[in-house]
Amino acid sequence: MSIPDASAKATNQHALPSYLNSERPGPWGIYLQQVDRVTPYLGSLSRWVETLKRPKRALIVDVPIELDNGTMAHFEGYRVQHNTSRGPGKGGVRFHQDVTLSEVMALSAWMSVKNAVVNLPFGGAKGGIRVDPKTLSRGELERLTRRYTSEIGIIIGPTKDIPAPDVNTNEQIMAWMMDTYSMNEGATASGVVTGKPIALGGSLGRREATGRGVYTVGQEAAQHLGIDIAKTKIAVQGFGNVGGIAAKLFAQAGATVVAVQDHGGTVYKASGLDVLALLSHVSEYGSVLGYENAEILPDAQFWGVDCDILIPAALEQQITAENAHQIQARMVIEGANGPTTPEADDILHERGILVVPDVIANAGGVTVSYFEWVQDFSSFFWSEDEINARLVRIMREAFAAIWQVADEHRVSLRTATFIVACSRILQARELRGLYP
Ligand code: GLU
Repeated sequence: MSIPDASAKATNQHALPSYLNSERPGPWGIYLQQVDRVTPYLGSLSRWVETLKRPKRALIVDVPIELDNGTMAHFEGYRVQHNTSRGPGKGGVRFHQDVTLSEVMALSAWMSVKNAVVNLPFGGAKGGIRVDPKTLSRGELERLTRRYTSEIGIIIGPTKDIPAPDVNTNEQIMAWMMDTYSMNEGATASGVVTGKPIALGGSLGRREATGRGVYTVGQEAAQHLGIDIAKTKIAVQGFGNVGGIAAKLFAQAGATVVAVQDHGGTVYKASGLDVLALLSHVSEYGSVLGYENAEILPDAQFWGVDCDILIPAALEQQITAENAHQIQARMVIEGANGPTTPEADDILHERGILVVPDVIANAGGVTVSYFEWVQDFSSFFWSEDEINARLVRIMREAFAAIWQVADEHRVSLRTATFIVACSRILQARELRGLYP
């Protein structure tokens, strides 16, 4: 066996751990490119930038459950704490058949950026289980959630890392997570998760908060571009908690929602879809499939529909180099996390289409999660008006700040958002110093 010499050690000491290989395409690779783009703007703080390129802590857990038919099934779960320089980890948990460690790492990093840009006293974290929850019974889903919570229980907690809903997780799942953690602790810990039912210390306005935030930044961006919302045509991908609520709010403001795409298909109506009717169809049948009062479009045609505002509010990597040229909209508001690839970002930028990036556009959810956490700690609950007013104020102020930075440095809103957020994170990092 050869003994590594000192020079080999010297060259290896900065080598990335294998799971951080940026050559591999995927959400983590995209996030690293975003960090590289912002590094030249970080001044002296750039000496700490390596911190952002590796998660602080990543836990992979086996989640075994007994299925209803008596057999055993094993699922792979994750909880990644990307950064905790500014406070405890914070971010959702997703249940999806395509969840990977790379994806959860990227989502946790985007949480760090998101929480910093709206100035919440949180770091970034994310969790997930690789499972298609639609294949599980309610009992199986509960056992899966409880076992997963117990497994990640060693790193979460109201002052350590606070999960919340994300794709395919909801208030009920948060209730089971809160209960499992509390049973293990021997005390009811309502602040361990957010997005809980109101009866368990959840916050008014939380369910609608992400969609409301998307709408609020949409209003701000439209104002900067001199666009009257009431005269806009909107296309939305994803019609759940984010896209559905955003579409409802835009429609209430007089906009015409012309196209909606979800996992069931694409519906289109040039004169405007009846958003409330479509929402009730989706809540009854699970998707837009079978909705009658509209034209059905082949999925690929969604990207080219005639609209002013496009809202991708589903999953990552939807707007790509292949479809970015077809987009007709004047602005894209990213309700989803990571819906636009860097190549597509450049194409949209060159074509003069404004992209309001995920890390600000969908920050409304975690902002009201923060309100929920504060209310749980103080056991004092606020009115819905108070919550919505504070949410709108925070979103507007954050948007104005990044708009100014984008103007100053002549960069995209995404780079501007990363400049603001990464500077805050790395400033905290520098002030805390390196332990030991
Ligand atoms: N899952 C949401 C997000 O991606 C909310 C996270 C939270 O409330 O902690 O921002």
